[in-house]
Amino acid sequence: MTALDLPRSVSVRAAAKINLHLGVGAVRDDGFHPLETVYQAISLYDDVTLASSVVRARGLECADYIDAGDVPLGDDNIAFRALDLVRARTGRPGHESVNILKSIPVAGGMAGGSADAAATLLAYDRLHALDLPDAVLLQLAAELGSDVPFSLVGGTARGRGRGEVVQPLDDRGTWWWVAVASDVGLSTPEVYRHHDRLFPDAPTEPAEPADLLAALATGEPLRLARTLHKDLQAPAVDLRPELGTLIDRGEGEGALRGIVSGSGPTCIFLCDSLDGAHAVVAGLQGAGHDVVLIANGPVAGAHLLEHP
Ligand code: ATP
Repeated sequence: MTALDLPRSVSVRAAAKINLHLGVGAVRDDGFHPLETVYQAISLYDDVTLASSVVRARGLECADYIDAGDVPLGDDNIAFRALDLVRARTGRPGHESVNILKSIPVAGGMAGGSADAAATLLAYDRLHALDLPDAVLLQLAAELGSDVPFSLVGGTARGRGRGEVVQPLDDRGTWWWVAVASDVGLSTPEVYRHHDRLFPDAPTEPAEPADLLAALATGEPLRLARTLHKDLQAPAVDLRPELGTLIDRGEGEGALRGIVSGSGPTCIFLCDSLDGAHAVVAGLQGAGHDVVLIANGPVAGAHLLEHP
């Protein structure tokens, strides 16, 4: 490909993630917790557009239920850090403009920032036709954050280590989820600290979620509902008791099971069908919850939207 053939702009779409299982081990000497998790990518998306530019430019557009003020526009935005990292490693001259179109709720345990970072890595690769091997993109992703490799891979996958060691799983289902975002964030480090206080005897290696892996392979929602598990649910609910009330309410409206997403405060509800999800949304909106979204999973990892 010559310089004249290179695309002038590239858009990449990356999905939100939920954790169907999150086993947390005892904190390690380096401060990280060993994890045994099962991720699923669901159909809430951020799109990142990269364009060759004479100057560095940054833009952000948000869905109406997202407060743009919650997303940093400086160097602490993980998408811009991803751009700096891949640019430093590949040594390309010039600049890019970056625009983020955000629909994934912010700071809700749905890895929206990680999705943006993964999308930026892939967009940069395609914009400059670098054709970096998957292993290199995954390595860069792991340097940016524990959830970023999964955002590249998508689907349903097991995560180990700090969550960055990702292995795709056999998943026969089309699962319907209702996600309820919260106005008030919940700090991930605070939830982990509270976990360590509540569970001082956590194992050094969390156990394999064998029942959940078997349930995924059946595609049966009721069976999956019974096996969903989060070690961070107890500390999150202890810190924010209203999350427990919300989970009870969603289950009362017909959800098969409600759990916190990641470390919260977003809660997700597994439903038996799209119709079942609509009924849960109506019930929760009637009870005063404003941001109640329907999504299905699993969906693809970061992928190109256009390549003009
Ligand atoms: P984590 O579990 O990794 O803390 P999360 O999945 O709960 O994250 P994110 O939406 O990724 O939530 O945002 C976490 C924080 O990261 C936000 O409060 C925000 O200040 C910061 N942040 C940095 N870059 C971004 C980005 N591109 N999109 C959203 N938030 C970002």
